Amino acid sequence: MTEHHRDAALTPSEQATIRELLDTDRRRTTDRIALLGRDRDEIVTSSALTASDDEHDPEGSSTAFERAHVQALLDQALTHLAELDLAAERLRDGTYGICAKCGQRIPLERLEVLPAIKTCVKCASRRR
Ligand SMILES: [Zn+2]
Repeated sequence: MTEHHRDAALTPSEQATIRELLDTDRRRTTDRIALLGRDRDEIVTSSALTASDDEHDPEGSSTAFERAHVQALLDQALTHLAELDLAAERLRDGTYGICAKCGQRIPLERLEVLPAIKTCVKCASRRR
């Protein structure tokens, strides 16, 4: 089918499925953010405790690395959370599941795997 669907709204049961997926993902993501926040605080605390002898500390640079890594994961999780919020918004206003770039409907199978996704496979693989 090549016809362009303007009425791309999901069926009520599909919407319910997606809403559930978004909720689950949201819970997982908030848990992850809490966990990563704790990890980061622990790294900060433990590196503060060992700061006095850090000139001989072989762990010094790996601590900084670990901290940057945790921070990067935390940023990713926060970005994902914001995407989930936007997806929930699109679900409410009826634009959910429509590719933000080409306006084509995103297949349900893709949405079920990546409920916060904004673009179809074609547009996602053809970045910028
Ligand atoms: Zn597209």
